[in-house]
Amino acid sequence: MEHIMLDVGLYISAALCLVFIVQSFKKRTLLGNSLGRVLIMMLIGVVAYYVNYHSTNEYIMYFAESTCHASYDWMLLFMTSFVWELTGHTKHTFLKNFYIVLVSIDSAAILTNPINHFIFSYHIRQGIFNTVALVDPKAFFWMHLLVGCSMIGIIIFMLVRGILTTSRYYRVRYEIVGGLCLLTMLFILVFIYDDRTVIDLSKLFMGVAALFLNVASFDFQPLRLMRNLQNYVDENMSDATIIYDNKGHILKINAKAKSLIAENVRQSRDSLLAYLELEDEENRTIKIINDCTYEVVYKPKYDDRNFYVGSTFIFYDVTENMKRLEREHKVATIDSLTGCYNRAGFMEHADKFIEDKEITGGYVVMVSGIRDFKGINGLYGTRAGDRVLKEIARRFADYSFSVPMLYGRTAEGKFTSILPLDYLDKIVNELSHVQIPIEDEMSVNVNMCHGFVVMSDMTKSVEYYYEIALLALAECKKNVSNIVLEYSDAMAMEQRRTQTLIAEMHEAVEKGEFYIELQPQVDLKTNSVSGAEALVRWNHPTLGKIAPTEFIPLFEENGFISNIDKFVWEKTAETLKMLSDEGAYDGSISVNVSRVDVTAMNVAEEFERIVQKYGIEPERLHIEITESACEGNKEALISMMNSLRDKGFVVEIDDFGSGYSSLNALMELPFDVVKLDMDFMRDKEADFKGGVIVNAMAGMIHDLDARIVVEGVENVDNVKKALGIDGDAAQGYHYSRPIPVEEFVRFVKQYKK
Ligand code: C2E
Ligand code: CA
Ligand code: CA
Repeated sequence: MEHIMLDVGLYISAALCLVFIVQSFKKRTLLGNSLGRVLIMMLIGVVAYYVNYHSTNEYIMYFAESTCHASYDWMLLFMTSFVWELTGHTKHTFLKNFYIVLVSIDSAAILTNPINHFIFSYHIRQGIFNTVALVDPKAFFWMHLLVGCSMIGIIIFMLVRGILTTSRYYRVRYEIVGGLCLLTMLFILVFIYDDRTVIDLSKLFMGVAALFLNVASFDFQPLRLMRNLQNYVDENMSDATIIYDNKGHILKINAKAKSLIAENVRQSRDSLLAYLELEDEENRTIKIINDCTYEVVYKPKYDDRNFYVGSTFIFYDVTENMKRLEREHKVATIDSLTGCYNRAGFMEHADKFIEDKEITGGYVVMVSGIRDFKGINGLYGTRAGDRVLKEIARRFADYSFSVPMLYGRTAEGKFTSILPLDYLDKIVNELSHVQIPIEDEMSVNVNMCHGFVVMSDMTKSVEYYYEIALLALAECKKNVSNIVLEYSDAMAMEQRRTQTLIAEMHEAVEKGEFYIELQPQVDLKTNSVSGAEALVRWNHPTLGKIAPTEFIPLFEENGFISNIDKFVWEKTAETLKMLSDEGAYDGSISVNVSRVDVTAMNVAEEFERIVQKYGIEPERLHIEITESACEGNKEALISMMNSLRDKGFVVEIDDFGSGYSSLNALMELPFDVVKLDMDFMRDKEADFKGGVIVNAMAGMIHDLDARIVVEGVENVDNVKKALGIDGDAAQGYHYSRPIPVEEFVRFVKQYKK
């Protein structure tokens, strides 16, 4: 029975050795390799002992017993380098090589011992089950012992040093290895020197040793240390953590959680869930406790078989984050320049303002704009522009102390406010012309205009009222003398009509909705047709005939006017060609050049191209440009007029006397004809700029060898007036309205008679 147990013991020991040999080499580390080699030697020892024990052949038994002893040699050698690795001290290559030589000699002597009996002799003893060869030390055995003991010495030295120089948390692994070594040595010595026993306990112990060595090398974790460190982390964390077991009782709670959550609340998972108003599934919520904001994350935990094992609560302190978010929000809603709300901020606070004030009517949304804010920036610099904005914001702030109002800078040069209708007049008056000091004792005259709308329907949003107040402002800006304008439905309709016109303008050209009419000019001396003016017309399919006074300002604003003008010029040239070919008319026709064209293209080259294309003489095309075009780029205008005249075109100053300094125009601009503005004909001489001096100017114009065409001649009185200033030709309803080309042909024929 006992021998079976011994056999089983040896099998188990060998199997364990084998398993951990594989495990060790699998690690593919220096430590793993050296442990693997130790364990191989252990396995060889176990197998050799097994052979010794089971064999009956004397020599085999001798040889097996020798192999055992040789394996101890190598086991100790490998053990030394294993401990070297384990304790992390640098290897002494010389010592290692020295021992390799020693061990090689020693083990060679041992393995040849069955033949030469140098180191020990053998005696056979009867075991329980069979005979076993045992050794009797001889003269040279001391050498074998010395080699082995010196290595044991090194091993023990290193382990003791490791134990002494390492924290108690890590010492355990050296203690395990040291203990194993000592125990194995003890078993071996007992087996060698105690003749009575034939069972080598060390061999049975090898498997266990293999297991512990493996654990000490690879799986060892200083649990106590980890627990301590974990506690340290838990206690010092600013996040409160609580862990409950599967019954909902506290498993672990850190100091922060204890101070944060009342005992009766935290005592069970369910009471904490109720306090946090959380459901029993993975969840998170925001909770404010003691003025701090926490993001609470609740996680129930399940094991791999889906059994509920417990749950965790973590309270992340997000107070700082919240504050930052608030700050960022503020940045996004405040205008950094003036410190008042920007558009987003204004809109956000508007609803609350209306709610707080319980506004049901009598309040207005007003948008106040700075006239020509871009001009102020351009003329005085953006810093001055900033000053202006700050000053206006300050004034709004002043009002807001005494008036229940909300205000903000909602666009570059625009302020929007919600205020009681009763205060509107006061604020508008005070904010119509403001003098704002800028650097160097200079000040800027700022003109403002305001568009407003009464909030009559509180179901509509402030955003809605803001949009239509903007329309009112845009309308208000159109006329320089306007200061404030209330929104009306007509404005919206006009706005819509404007948008339609702009949206359809390109298509309208392609569809041929634009065409020209001619208005004859009559020579005041000969009473015959001396010329005509081509005027554009838009016949819209649904809106009907649209006056140029409506669409031309729109097109001048978006630049489309140049397309229209080129179309008119081309159409006029084509008409001139056709009329002279037919022999119907060989005089001239005037066309209009918008001030926008002056910078948008090379007008002179364009006209040259057109006359060449239609083969007409340039002097048959008269080019009208208003004197107000000077307000833009005077040099460009003068050079354009010069090159037109050089190319043989006739240049006319249109609407003379209506705006800009007319005297300057006369002095500076190169021209052939002056068209006196219609206002001159109306009884508005008092308003007419330079009205009285027109007579004097007429003389000057003639002195400059230029002709005078009088516009807006509507009746006989007007004709007399035109004759009075010695005008050369007249244009107006008295003779004819602008008419289609065919009609113009008839008109010419009629006047010839
Ligand atoms: P404008 O160049 O001063 O053209 C004369 C305008 O006065 C024309 O108005 C004409 O119909 C009108 N008119 C002529 N005789 C009389 C009269 O006896 N009494 C009154 N009350 N009005 C008279 P229309 O055709 O509506 O053109 C208005 C303005 O539109 C023009 O003023 C001109 O500035 C602009 N415009 C017209 N066609 C073109 C064009 O092809 N290109 C450009 N750039 N502007 C154009
Ligand atoms: Ca004209
Ligand atoms: Ca005119």
